[in-house]
Amino acid sequence: MAYVITDECVMCGTCEGECPVEAISEGDGKYVIDADTCVECGTCAGACPTEAIKEV
Ligand code: SF4
Ligand code: SF4
Repeated sequence: MAYVITDECVMCGTCEGECPVEAISEGDGKYVIDADTCVECGTCAGACPTEAIKEV
């Protein structure tokens, strides 16, 4: 399992501040999760206002 940010991201930046291990950064057109850093806690998915973060 892994968390990914989809095209529903509106680049609000909320998830970046919520991630405990700083795995999220601003990408080209949407925010991105560094899979090697992510500890799959799910906090970002719950914080995203557009439900852009999916568990896959
Ligand atoms: S919280 Fe959701 S909409 Fe906001 S930057 Fe993160 S993924 Fe994008
Ligand atoms: S699932 Fe947790 S560790 Fe992974 S990117 Fe989201 S907030 Fe960060």
